[in-house]
Amino acid sequence: MATRNFDAVVIGAGPGGYVAAIRLAQLGKKAALVDREELGGVCLNWGCIPSKALIAAANLVDEIRHAGGRGILVGEPRVDIDKLREFKNEVVKKMTGGVGFLEKGNGVEVLKGNARFVSATAIEVDGVGEKIRVEAPAFIVATGGRPIEIPGFKVDGQHVWSAREAVDIPEVPKRLVAIGGGIIGMELGTVYAKLGSQVTFLEALPQVLTGIDPEAVRLVTRGLKPRGTTIHVNARAQGYEARGNELVVKAEVEGKPVEIPCDKVLVAVGFRPSVEGLGLEPLGVKLTPRGFIEVNPAYRTSVPSIYAIGDIAGPPLLAHKASKEGEIAAEAIAGKKSVRDWVALPSGIFTDPEIAVVGLASEEEARQAGHDPVVGKFSFGALGRSVAIAHPEGFVKVIGDRASKLLLGATLCGPDACDLVAEAALALEMGAYLEDVALTIHAHPTLPEAFMEACKAALGEAIHALNRPERPRRAGAGAPASA
Ligand SMILES: Cc1cc2nc3c(=O)[nH]c(=O)nc-3n(C[C@H](O)[C@H](O)[C@H](O)COP(=O)(O)OP(=O)(O)OC[C@H]3O[C@@H](n4cnc5c(N)ncnc54)[C@H](O)[C@@H]3O)c2cc1C
Repeated sequence: MATRNFDAVVIGAGPGGYVAAIRLAQLGKKAALVDREELGGVCLNWGCIPSKALIAAANLVDEIRHAGGRGILVGEPRVDIDKLREFKNEVVKKMTGGVGFLEKGNGVEVLKGNARFVSATAIEVDGVGEKIRVEAPAFIVATGGRPIEIPGFKVDGQHVWSAREAVDIPEVPKRLVAIGGGIIGMELGTVYAKLGSQVTFLEALPQVLTGIDPEAVRLVTRGLKPRGTTIHVNARAQGYEARGNELVVKAEVEGKPVEIPCDKVLVAVGFRPSVEGLGLEPLGVKLTPRGFIEVNPAYRTSVPSIYAIGDIAGPPLLAHKASKEGEIAAEAIAGKKSVRDWVALPSGIFTDPEIAVVGLASEEEARQAGHDPVVGKFSFGALGRSVAIAHPEGFVKVIGDRASKLLLGATLCGPDACDLVAEAALALEMGAYLEDVALTIHAHPTLPEAFMEACKAALGEAIHALNRPERPRRAGAGAPASA
């Protein structure tokens, strides 16, 4: 068996691994990147990027359908699903091709195959060709996760889909049952609903999008209802059977048995870490009780030569967290004093309206962190830009520290919320006070004005909402901010 030697080897070419490999090369390390599938991992191949291509397409269909209100008269849009899939595949190809270009350009060697540790400083890569041994003083494990399956719903690609099959959009079923009202279930369920499926969501907990501001969640569920969807909370899916030409999902909703006829089932109940088959156990790499790899703030595992980043190193399971961790681990391997020290880790949910959260997102969280919180809220219904683009739904809510006026966090729900959260993340990372944002001139008419107004509202100085600081108030009640 041939042996190859590197300074550092990354296993898994998702947004964690491919970024780590580039950073290692930038820092002068002879690096290799191993993956058994295409470059880009879940994110580029069947996660973040292709799902957002579908979401944008479904939003376009929805916009066309509702354009009559603005005097644009078009018939019911038709979707050529093969063409849409082709577009999505082109997007994936372009982005994964870009990763290949960057790795090559930085001098990273890409090895295709399944990696397994044979010692703390060597792996075997079983690839397309001959099995090879790869040795290095440092390894980064970035093998991500895979969809959790639930009893009674074996993913077969025919009746039952995971996110992977759903993102490949084989068809638009007449009726879809989406099990799991988390981010992925809600995003993909919304895509299918907008493309014409009748979607039934089944969520085991009392609220879909658990942990998110209930007012934001209400806006999302309210928007889904007229699009032919049904949302059941406190609902446990128990199994399904094929009856004639249809499937019947059996569930318990609020303690009562129900049967839901449908044509396809999407199971989106979360991800579990991909540690099996890596050979980590005999080396003594410690796992957390939930099966993720335990790491220190530099992403080093209990075995000094092995680092772990991204989904495999634990929640939140987000691509940008994986990338940041990849940079930190690579820098630590290169001898830099790099550790996890971020203030702001934003997250975006691409539902309709979009929701984005950064920092301490509720008064309760702020109290638990020892603050006396002050809240500022501003409605997109009072903002010129959102009204003009016919998306006046939603709000920006900021939390600050009452005494110091330090900005602590924000929840944004509304048009382009997932883009707008970048400003809040930057403000938090820079240690901004509410005044810093309030005093910054924002271009008019733009959506970020809502963040500025929310910070002003927290100071009792909102211009386009009435300021009633000590009483709960309806945000944005006031004149539109469009002079
Ligand atoms: C439908 C969907 C939508 C999503 N949307 C978003 C979003 O909008 N924003 C966001 O931040 N996150 C999103 N995510 C989550 C995001 O995709 C993950 O958090 C991210 O991909 C994790 O990156 P990673 O580098 O840890 O691993 P992954 O992307 O999972 O990559 C792991 C790689 O390791 C390889 N691998 C595994 N084991 C081995 C082995 N033994 N040998 C060789 N290779 C191996 C795999 O083939 C894979 O390519 C979404 C996920 C899904 C499914």
